Amino acid sequence: MKFVLPALPYDYGALEPYIDARTMEIHHDKHHLAYIENLIKALDTCPEFQPTSVESLLINLANVPSDIREAVRNNGGGHYNHSLFWKIMKKNGGGKPNGLVADLINKSFGSFDDFQSQFNAQAKKVFGSGWAWLSLHKSGKLVITGLPNQDSPLTYDEQPILGLDVWEHAYYLKYQNKRPDYISAWWHVINWDQVEENYRAIIE
Ligand code: MN
Repeated sequence: MKFVLPALPYDYGALEPYIDARTMEIHHDKHHLAYIENLIKALDTCPEFQPTSVESLLINLANVPSDIREAVRNNGGGHYNHSLFWKIMKKNGGGKPNGLVADLINKSFGSFDDFQSQFNAQAKKVFGSGWAWLSLHKSGKLVITGLPNQDSPLTYDEQPILGLDVWEHAYYLKYQNKRPDYISAWWHVINWDQVEENYRAIIE
């Protein structure tokens, strides 16, 4: 199994003015790469353990050798989460979803506005470093969760379709301590077509 840094699907400045080019460059080229390098380093110490995918590592974290489980949790999670994150954003994104995801959001949260305010509240209250997620629980329910560090929803029987990185490295250059401003700005770059695709990939 080879773990490689996926290319950003747009240029560093594509999400300006909501997310600045310098942040995107450091976030993708340095932070994401470091997760991959550290995942590979950890796995190299257990050559008898051969994962088939990053997803399988995170879904079956309990089966990962205990010596490297924490490193896999953090760095495998970091790799998986960021790979999803780049794709659910785009230039001239934002607006509201349509299709199956819109229906499910309305059914689960009452309306898009109610969903958005619950998601924002979750993203604001993640203490320290972590993520806010919109995921499909194995029960079939759409759920909003906050997870610490690079924990992946996959480890908790949930399949993420949308996620927001609220680590300071994701916003500090432009927003400093103003996480709520970053959260508000992020809605302008969401790639709802990709979110729909993520959902369809789970159910089809
Ligand atoms: Mn990050």
